[in-house]
Amino acid sequence: MTFVCNTCGKKYKFQSGLSKHKKKHKVQKEISVTDLIINFKNQILAMEEVRVLREEEHESVLSKIAKSWTEEKKYIEELEEENFKLKEKIRKYES
Ligand SMILES: [Zn+2]
Repeated sequence: MTFVCNTCGKKYKFQSGLSKHKKKHKVQKEISVTDLIINFKNQILAMEEVRVLREEEHESVLSKIAKSWTEEKKYIEELEEENFKLKEKIRKYES
């Protein structure tokens, strides 16, 4: 009678040989689970990196908005000043 490993199909004459061999598969399985966890962790780290990059992108977009807002504000102030001067002129003509 032969004992066949149902994981890889390897044949053994004795039950003890097969059970010894099966332990090897168990270790391999544990290793692959560890690999899976490491792989998963790496994926999360990669995702974190992407997220950080996205945050930096947000920062640059925000700073652009802030810059254009400052320019807009300056323009509005200039217009207000001009408006004030024009109003003064009108007042002079009225009086
Ligand atoms: Zn096997």
